[in-house]
Amino acid sequence: MKVYTFCDGGWASNCHIAADETTGEAVLIDASSEPERILKRIGEDGFKITAILLTHGHFDHILKLDEWREVTGAPLMMSAADADCLSDPAKSCFSFFAGEDVTFAPPERLLYDGDTVGFGSLSLRVLATSGHTPGSVCYIGGGYAFTGDTLFEGSIGRFDLPGGDYDALRASLRTLASLPAETKVKPGHGNSTTIGRETERNIYMKSPEA
Ligand SMILES: [Zn+2]
Repeated sequence: MKVYTFCDGGWASNCHIAADETTGEAVLIDASSEPERILKRIGEDGFKITAILLTHGHFDHILKLDEWREVTGAPLMMSAADADCLSDPAKSCFSFFAGEDVTFAPPERLLYDGDTVGFGSLSLRVLATSGHTPGSVCYIGGGYAFTGDTLFEGSIGRFDLPGGDYDALRASLRTLASLPAETKVKPGHGNSTTIGRETERNIYMKSPEA
């Protein structure tokens, strides 16, 4: 699995691409940055987006969602529990942070814990990790965990926004801490890390029972 990370858009949100080098099929994970430069870059390597995945429904991860859907024609897949963020700007926090009531067409596929999303010969498993939002998920596969705003390098996501739940977030972190230590973590904001590094140094992962 080849992985790219771009952070071109507003609000310092990462866009990740996971790609199958044997078939050229790739998925986008979160849609904060303009598609043009990213598609040019991955196109040079022979990759094509076949699905758009969201880690959760917050505004800063869907800023350019309409552009991505239009230019790729790829189906949007996201957690069923966050799908109402697309129709409710209070839940996506578009109203609160961006001062705009932006809404989107519903997803083509609703995802649930344990589902898999295939692309080429590869797949990512959906791991429900509620807490930052009710429908936050991580995508696990190929030695990677795309953790959205659940787990960051040295930190964790906010739990004070609508639908946030600290106890649920801590339970989700316990689940993530049980992944193999060498799993590469690709968060929704900031630098990449590994599960092992976070269970050693991240206070929320070091003492997941606290
Ligand atoms: Zn968020």
